[in-house]
Amino acid sequence: MRTEGKISKVAICEKCNGFILAGHIDYIDKQTEKEFTEFTNEGFTVKLETADETRSREFADYIKCSSGFCKN
Ligand SMILES: [Zn+2]
Repeated sequence: MRTEGKISKVAICEKCNGFILAGHIDYIDKQTEKEFTEFTNEGFTVKLETADETRSREFADYIKCSSGFCKN
């Protein structure tokens, strides 16, 4: 089923609200799904949101976020 609208799947750092991975849900391949799962396991929040919401986020630094040194 094709999804209407511009919905993206994002992996977000709860601390700085930045995203470390984002993709349009219609175009997410198996490899990317695997990465989302790995980010979930590492404590990042993975969710669906509108593309506009994603655009309002900053691209986060995975290294800093995963070690807890990103800005609040
Ligand atoms: Zn962060």
